[in-house]
Amino acid sequence: MEIVDLRSDTVTQPTPEMRAAMAQAEVGDDVYGEDPTVNRLQQMAAEMLGKEAGLFVPSGTMGNLSAVLAHCGRGDEVILGHLSHTFVYECGGISSLGSVHSHQIRNQPDGTMALDDIQEAVRSDDEHFPVSRLIILENTHNRCGGVSIDKEYIGQVASLAREYNLKLHLDGARIFNAAAALGVSARDLAAPFDSVTFCLSKGLCAPVGSILCGSNEFIYQAHRVRKQLGGGMRQAGILAAAGIVALESMVDRLVEDHIRAKMLGAGLKEIPGILVDPGSPSSNMIYLNLDRDILPMDAAQAANLLDEAGVKVGVTSQNRMRLVTHYWIGESEVDIALNAFRTVL
Ligand SMILES: *Cc1c(COP(=O)(O)O)cnc(C)c1O
Repeated sequence: MEIVDLRSDTVTQPTPEMRAAMAQAEVGDDVYGEDPTVNRLQQMAAEMLGKEAGLFVPSGTMGNLSAVLAHCGRGDEVILGHLSHTFVYECGGISSLGSVHSHQIRNQPDGTMALDDIQEAVRSDDEHFPVSRLIILENTHNRCGGVSIDKEYIGQVASLAREYNLKLHLDGARIFNAAAALGVSARDLAAPFDSVTFCLSKGLCAPVGSILCGSNEFIYQAHRVRKQLGGGMRQAGILAAAGIVALESMVDRLVEDHIRAKMLGAGLKEIPGILVDPGSPSSNMIYLNLDRDILPMDAAQAANLLDEAGVKVGVTSQNRMRLVTHYWIGESEVDIALNAFRTVL
């Protein structure tokens, strides 16, 4: 039985082209800065995002943590959304490992934080307060349904950051999905930020890794932090080689994942008892609720039945599910998934 795995775009496996590139990768000791493949990947990534330099890190979590610790000192404060990945899913690393205080602001359903809320969160100069240092945005916004945040809003937050002399970091795990959804370049979306993290290991299909980008000075600091966190890697060119293939061949095709998500969403909307979020999908993610007035089961029970039919979905709360399209979900996989939903529900 073919398994259709819609839990996440992180389940993507490296393509045969990636495996070939990995096998042939030229490598060196990256802790000495001597891995030519890592150096090439970092440079490519920096150029694509319009930044001076890039740093290859094992995960998006380490990329965000390295960025926060490079921007902030002990007791400084970060302003971020209450549904942001950094606040919700990164084990509180910025506070437990970095002694950085988090100031959470309510995320709006469109993934933004209200400008007034950000402004109100900025601390005045008072010895009782932590020092506001950094604002973090997320694009696309995962918990807000994979929504993209547009350049206009980013520009407004950037002006605020400049006014109060704060740094601005983007958790751009899926920045290329945001760019594809908005029809703009990732470089444009990244321009107002002092630093950006993005993932190679999600929709771009690479097996491991993320890149943190920023100025030369910033990356110099972040490189030290990565070492502190135990993230110095040796012949990491084996991994970076897949990342290069990802940047060369996987970015432009992300629009296809968005088209498949639309097909899947349209089919799901026709099934009684499924309430797809209004406006969803806006990129490669579909969030839906099960209507318990019609259906005798909750999301976990439905997910188990779907699993038996070969379709894996993410359960995000009692009656809520997330489905994510990616490289391995073609039209026939969309059909298999829809048939399984019709049968099970
Ligand atoms: C996946 C993800 C991360 C973290 O990436 P990992 O490689 O899983 O550590 C950060 N932010 C967002 C929005 C993500 O979706």
